[in-house]
Amino acid sequence: MSAVSGALVIGAGPAGLMAAAELARAGHAVTLAEAMPSPARKLLMAGKSGLNLTRDEAPESFLRAFTPLPPPLEAALRDFGPAQVQDWARALGQELFTGSTGRVFPVAMKASPLLRAWLAELAAAGVVLRRRWRWRGWAGDEALFDTPEGPRRIGAGATVLSLGGASWPKLGATGDWAAHLPGLVAPFRPANVGLRVEWSPHMARHFGRPVKGVALIAGGQVSRGEVVISARGIEGGGIYPLSPALRAGAALAIDLFPDLAPDALAARIARLPARLSGANRLRRLGLDPVRAALVQEFARPLPADLAPVLRALPVRHAGPRSLEEAISSAGGLRWDALDGFMLRDRPGVFAAGEMLDWEAPTGGYLLTACLATGRAAGRQAAARLAA
Ligand SMILES: Cc1cc2nc3c(=O)[nH]c(=O)nc-3n(C[C@H](O)[C@H](O)[C@H](O)COP(=O)(O)OP(=O)(O)OC[C@H]3O[C@@H](n4cnc5c(N)ncnc54)[C@H](O)[C@@H]3O)c2cc1C
Repeated sequence: MSAVSGALVIGAGPAGLMAAAELARAGHAVTLAEAMPSPARKLLMAGKSGLNLTRDEAPESFLRAFTPLPPPLEAALRDFGPAQVQDWARALGQELFTGSTGRVFPVAMKASPLLRAWLAELAAAGVVLRRRWRWRGWAGDEALFDTPEGPRRIGAGATVLSLGGASWPKLGATGDWAAHLPGLVAPFRPANVGLRVEWSPHMARHFGRPVKGVALIAGGQVSRGEVVISARGIEGGGIYPLSPALRAGAALAIDLFPDLAPDALAARIARLPARLSGANRLRRLGLDPVRAALVQEFARPLPADLAPVLRALPVRHAGPRSLEEAISSAGGLRWDALDGFMLRDRPGVFAAGEMLDWEAPTGGYLLTACLATGRAAGRQAAARLAA
């Protein structure tokens, strides 16, 4: 069964919703197909931690967070960066605030009010949302779907794929689309992911506790964010930026006194009374219980010269956690398969969002790039329909 519609957008996450909005604004009839029973489940999940929409940061430093940063991604982010994301969210009725580290959140600290307003706007613009429509590849130029009413084939003047990456698959983005774009997809890898650590039993009482005021070092990179000790390892914003280095096998070390000059730490150690137990030495140096426990975990028996382990505590770990547990995925549709956001070997088919091969840390970069590329792909698709 075939139907011809103006534009087809496949995948109703932030990138797809943005592409659909651009196509509808340009006056095209839009069908938005989504595999799940409801749209934007990952966006709603992001809302559980407050919905960090973007980051109030100068453009050049904002762009440096992305690897790689090919010209189409850079152009999309220059057109629709942090300032534009904030204007867009305010236009959808969201009051925003900027946290101390520049991260921007809706005052509501959740995604549902924004998503409700967005979906209402799309419906008013005539976008038709098809739920439980799973894209199954192509039959010639038509897109194939499994739907509750049976198989469907849709031909469209322009199609935007916005199928997401491959992390947290239960929210809808499984990466299964890669099978329909053979030879064009760089393997998915976990990004923004915690680290597996097999703790000894005495660490159990620290599970759930934050580790503050440390610097994490891997592959020559230093991260100053906070991490949390969990039953399965180390997680949180402090470890996520190190994902690429840790994936590549770099060792992880923790500087427990990153704000103390080396001679100041040496002087503190020299002042310790002789014959103190290890635990008391760490306490007298000013380490709180969780940081002291980390030293005992990774450096016992404590060496006579404490400074090297306090400056670079070597963390024994079993590597990054799985793709299923990662906040986002690296890898995806390769940029050399694209001309702008259009597939070179399928003219009229565009792609956007996390399914493209880029990577960035948490902090609002991910959603900003999904919105920006969705908007750019939608605009390029609209221009093709108008040509
Ligand atoms: C726990 C968590 C917290 C996060 N917090 C933040 C945050 O605070 N800030 C931030 O910037 N980012 C955050 N992110 C990341 C951000 O949510 C994602 O990068 C973003 O949602 C990706 O948008 P997308 O539209 O490309 O893909 P998705 O949001 O994954 O949407 C893709 C859609 O395509 C659908 N789909 C997939 N395959 C098919 C198919 N074959 N047929 C039809 N439909 C299909 C999926 O069901 C899904 O609805 C978080 C992620 C997680 C998991």
